Amino acid sequence: MNIRPATAESIAEGAKILRAGGLVAFPTETVYGLGGDATQGKTVARIFEAKGRPAFNPLIVHVADISWVADLAETEGRFEKLARAFWPGPLTLVLRRRAGCPASELVSAGLDSIAVRMPNHPVALELLRGAQRPLAAPSANASGTVSPTLAAHVATSLGDKVDLIIDGGPCPVGLESAVLDLTQSTAMILRSGVITAEDIARVIGPIDIAREDPAAPKSPGQLASHYAPSLPIRLNATIAAAGEALLGFGATARATLNLSPGGDLKEAAVNLFAMMHALDEPQKFTAIVVAPIPATGIGIAINDRLERAAAPRV
Ligand code: AMP
Ligand code: MG
Repeated sequence: MNIRPATAESIAEGAKILRAGGLVAFPTETVYGLGGDATQGKTVARIFEAKGRPAFNPLIVHVADISWVADLAETEGRFEKLARAFWPGPLTLVLRRRAGCPASELVSAGLDSIAVRMPNHPVALELLRGAQRPLAAPSANASGTVSPTLAAHVATSLGDKVDLIIDGGPCPVGLESAVLDLTQSTAMILRSGVITAEDIARVIGPIDIAREDPAAPKSPGQLASHYAPSLPIRLNATIAAAGEALLGFGATARATLNLSPGGDLKEAAVNLFAMMHALDEPQKFTAIVVAPIPATGIGIAINDRLERAAAPRV
């Protein structure tokens, strides 16, 4: 397995691999990404294969600068405002594909839209600048499992399926980006994140939040069961039965691990996936039970991930 600490050399090596059509896992502020050149169809197909990701679930394309988007998508007023307010940062914007968009159609999974984001992480940005290509980069884990916030999580989940893993330490935000659809006249949140609906509304005015319709999801990736550890999960628990691991929040008594003893939602977001990985030990525990998390602000995104982790699995 090829895993290297983030240095100028390893990032340059990663950029070279990417230009040649290879796959490189790299840190972003949200979670580790499994990156490949979005303009090479074969490479994008390898990303789907490595993750076991359903072909109907489109990928986010990462850019090093707002100016890179003009090539890919039809930009408009709301896009400019939001990108200026939140990029680099954990907000993905879904736009209409431009005619002649160089990104493979596979990244859009057959839709006429494309999702773009500029990550706020020095390693990700240096890699993008080195490669000089937009990078398709879903989370660097097997589809449906707990997201990777450490290079070690990537190594365990994907191992030799990637050509290089760049280790840049723990991801500082820890939850996937919010996804906002700008293809309709009313902007709509497709996936919640640490940038909240209120944050976005302050910049562009009132927006909608997608209601789940499992038959026709607005964001094809919003599957009911996702982020699932191997152990069963139970939510809104205050005590654990013998053998269960208790993931606490705030003043939870006798927690096995605590997302944030002080009740800070931002800290809980950073710790969520790493603690789910740490407690996912079938030899030691029978289930992971999670204390109630307030469903306000960042808590909305945390509860979204927990509900999918706890959903019946397919
Ligand atoms: P992931 O790559 O696992 O972080 O997931 C990316 C998320 O963005 C999924 O929920 C996708 O369905 C969503 N997404 C990506 N591209 C599009 C698009 N063109 N339209 C709508 N949702 C998208
Ligand atoms: Mg994912």
